[in-house]
Amino acid sequence: MKKILLVEDNEDNRELVCALIGDAFDVESCTDAVEALALLDNPQTHLPDLMLVDISLPGMDGIQFLFRIRSDPRLAGIPAIALTAHAMKDDKERFIGSGFDGYFSKPIVDEMLLIETINTVIESRGRGRE
Ligand code: MN
Repeated sequence: MKKILLVEDNEDNRELVCALIGDAFDVESCTDAVEALALLDNPQTHLPDLMLVDISLPGMDGIQFLFRIRSDPRLAGIPAIALTAHAMKDDKERFIGSGFDGYFSKPIVDEMLLIETINTVIESRGRGRE
């Protein structure tokens, strides 16, 4: 089963995502970027196949978090999808420009679309690797 790391500060949203995709993926959650970086920096951690990253996080936001990920050769290849309530056209371009492979608008209501988006990003990233 593919492993997904969810970085989301809102408890209701964490529970919702786990309920929606928990049967399809092995989901691990972190409540903020610092916790997620500590987990990923641990050499014992089995790196996730994809990350779902809330943009509005306390402290380091999702954009800054992804910058750190993309700057680290060990973590740079992990695909990431932005989770955001702000899905205006400019925002979408900003997320992709920040290194995200895709974005998903909150509130999350369509479980099949989320699962499909995750699988598509994992597959397209996999094809791009040497
Ligand atoms: Mn948030």
